[in-house]
This record gives sequence, C-alpha cells and structure tokens, in this order.
Amino acid sequence: MATIKSATSPLFVERIEGALGAVRVTVADCGAPVLLRRDGVDARSPVGCARHDGVCLACYTGGDGPTTLDDNVGRAAATGFKVALRAFVDRAQRRTDATIQPRWPEALARPDTVRAPLALADGPVYLAELFEARPSPTSAILSDLDGEVVFGKVRRAAQLVVVRASSYEKEYVVPLKRALRVKAGDAVRAGEALTDGAPLPHDVLRILGEHALVRWLIDEAQAIFRAVDVTLPERHVSLLLRRMLARVTVTEPHDTGFAAGQRVARADFERENDALLAQGKQPAYAEPLLEGLSELV
Ligand SMILES: [Zn+2]
Repeated sequence: MATIKSATSPLFVERIEGALGAVRVTVADCGAPVLLRRDGVDARSPVGCARHDGVCLACYTGGDGPTTLDDNVGRAAATGFKVALRAFVDRAQRRTDATIQPRWPEALARPDTVRAPLALADGPVYLAELFEARPSPTSAILSDLDGEVVFGKVRRAAQLVVVRASSYEKEYVVPLKRALRVKAGDAVRAGEALTDGAPLPHDVLRILGEHALVRWLIDEAQAIFRAVDVTLPERHVSLLLRRMLARVTVTEPHDTGFAAGQRVARADFERENDALLAQGKQPAYAEPLLEGLSELV
C-alpha cells in the first residue's frame, strides 16, 4: 500500500506545481492552427497555442472543456494535473488487481513490440520517467533511420550494430548485457527499438517529431490514470508539455542576433524571425527542445 505513495515523490509533485503554477488562461483566441488529432478528429491544443502571455481558452480546452473563462478555469489550469495525481494515489492504494500497459508511440506500434505490463505501484515512477525525460542506461536504443541491420564487431563488452540505408549508415554501440530486439538482415524503420527498454522521450522527439511525442506522452499519462478509473483531461497534460517544449535550440542563426546552439523561448524565436522576414532578411533555423520537469524549475 505504502509503495504507491513513496513512488509519487513529493519532488515530482512539486515540479508539476512549479511548471504549471505560472500558466495563465486568456480569452482572446490566438488563432493557432490545429495541432493534434484526438479520436480521429482535429483538435486545438495548449501545446500549439500562439499566445505569448499564457494560453488562450480555445487552445486550452481544445473543444472538450469549459467554454467561458472564470476563476475556476484558471485554478483548474494550475491544479488539474495535481488533483488527478492525488486521486490516482488514493484510488491505487485500494486496488491491487490493476496493471498498466505501456505502449510504443503510435508510429511504431507493431504486434511484436508489446511491452510488459507494469504493476500499478510502478505507475507513478513511469509517469515521472516520462515527464522528467532523463536518459537512463535501460532506455531503449532506437534506430535513427530506415535501413537494414548489420552486425559489426564485439568490442569491450559491446556489440556494434549498424543500420544501413542506401546512402547513409549509423552505428550503435550496444552493451552485451542489453537484450537485442533485432537480428542481422532485419529491416528496421526510423524510431524502431534495437534493444529492450522504454523509449526515451528525447529520442522520440528527435526521430519521430513533436506531434508523435506529444500524442504518445498524453496517451501514456492518460492510460496510467485510467488503470484506476481516474480521468486525466488531455488539457492538463498538454499544459505541462507546452512548458516542456517552450524553448528551441538555434541551429543556424542567419541574420538574427541568436548564437548557434543557443536555447531561446519559442515565442522570442518566432517574434525575431517574423521581424526579420518583414525586412526581407533571412530568419534563423532551430530544432525543438524537450526540457524535462527537473530542468524547468
Ligand atoms: Zn491559442
């Protein structure tokens, strides 16, 4: 019984509070385009909200929440995730039968990549892993490209695994103690696991992109709560993801004042680029950055 409680570390809850405490919901519609598909229907999401001073009501609710802005909406934005987490812990302490089935990002789901179910008590730890986004020695090693698996040499207790495409190949050093999921000659797709273990959110972002990452993290978080019949509204997870994806890494500064490698707020990046484009100058390029909860507070 006490396992669940100790697994939901106060630090993790504090980090969620810290990340969401400053969120402001505003009325004026930002007019952002649709970001996510939910149950086959296009929906707005806080992750894609274009407002710089908070999140607009239309993106916050995404069509399935309150339609007018009042104090309750603001409070719900800051506390929704926490309230659901508390309900999860309360309920989980009375349930011993439930398990959680971790899944792969949708783009990678295949019948032979089913992952072992987790005990309910491990749910909060899994949740923390996903949202802290910390690399672990047991994370799955994912292929960065579509290609054929070729085995190289075994050196220093590691197997060299090469994924070879027609014009490019990439090498992966896989410790021998890791269980390989592929054999020589296998065709793998970008994002497919070469080893056992859970996918690391950073890898999912790099290989499959922002939409796949967001969809996967929302689905996983909701599945954990659903194991004990607690509803975690998508907007609560999305607000957290908005914070985790709020900055980008500048790759090519071009005519902006940014430096290569600099991490800048997405809103500042877009504002600077818009200003340069209006002057006929060349905007900067950047790649999305995922910051785990521990990096945010
Ligand atoms: Zn918006």
